[in-house]
Amino acid sequence: MSSIIQLLPDHVANQIAAGEVVQRPASVVKELLENAVDAQATDIKLIVKDAGKTLVQVIDNGIGMSVTDARLCFERHATSKIRQAEDLFALHTKGFRGEALASIAAIAHVEMKTRQEQEELGTHIVIEGSKFVAQEPAVLPKGTSFAIKNLFFNIPARRNFLKSDHVEFRHVLDEFQRVAMAHPGIHFTLIHNGSETFNLPSSNYRQRIVNIFAGKTNEKLVPVAEETDILSIQGFVGKPEFAKKNKGEQFFFVNDRFIRSSYLHHAIMSAYEGLLRDGMQPSYFLYLQVPAHSIDINIHPTKTEIKFDDEQALYAILRSAVKHSLGQFNVAPVLDFER
Ligand code: ADP
Ligand code: MG
Repeated sequence: MSSIIQLLPDHVANQIAAGEVVQRPASVVKELLENAVDAQATDIKLIVKDAGKTLVQVIDNGIGMSVTDARLCFERHATSKIRQAEDLFALHTKGFRGEALASIAAIAHVEMKTRQEQEELGTHIVIEGSKFVAQEPAVLPKGTSFAIKNLFFNIPARRNFLKSDHVEFRHVLDEFQRVAMAHPGIHFTLIHNGSETFNLPSSNYRQRIVNIFAGKTNEKLVPVAEETDILSIQGFVGKPEFAKKNKGEQFFFVNDRFIRSSYLHHAIMSAYEGLLRDGMQPSYFLYLQVPAHSIDINIHPTKTEIKFDDEQALYAILRSAVKHSLGQFNVAPVLDFER
């Protein structure tokens, strides 16, 4: 009898996990921005070169990391956000898998700088393809900066699979906008190839949406608000006359997280029944809050799909709230409530 099974070394396991977590530069953008939000930053700057293919950098003014944590954060399943399985159903953070940084460090060159407020010196770490190249104390501002260079340097097949800068930057923008929309109180900046693409001051939902989408956005928004035991809704739907042929501006956020749901989308479409010409799509920006224990976020590594306990009830509440708002708008001129 001969045994042939072996445990994979960490760097190999990390590279395999990375295949799931990191599809393209935009995946890195999402993970780093969410970490900065979880670190309670009030100011987050995203710097991107060549659509993220050569550089994705996120600088935050959050809580930073200790010397030990600065090294540990690159280990797989290393997280400060949950301690036990039950915590998954009481989540108040974007992250919980402890996989992103280990994955990213396995397939890129990473330079990290971090300092906690109470420490005089911070930590500077360089890690390339899961190997620590340098670690030293450094004089740094409070907070954390992650610079991810040469993504997929050791996976040529993945690198070649990347689309044009135009397409990849579109994905980067999508992730940036989703996180910025979910957290209007945070100041976000985006710099691409040296020029400032977005500078979004701390504000409220309405102003954040208007700052991102510009144009006539403010005119087209109809407020939606509903409060029940199992669901609270805030946000806006677009006036029917601004509907478009494409699905451009349709956003659901559940507990401050962008998610996709064809089921909830259907609830909106049915609320618009009779108000839209065939094939036209309304815009919507809807912020749903549900009890943390009533959803399961752990069904996909990118966490854009979630399972709800009582989907049918949510559908009904959402549909009626949107219908109500659209109805009010139809009978009376829109009152432009600031929210
Ligand atoms: P997760 O976010 O699921 O915990 P990550 O691999 O993204 O996993 O991050 C691992 C840990 O590193 C986090 O739990 C957090 O403690 C720490 N960390 C990551 N980014 C930051 C940051 N910008 N500021 C402070 N701590 C961070
Ligand atoms: Mg994370």
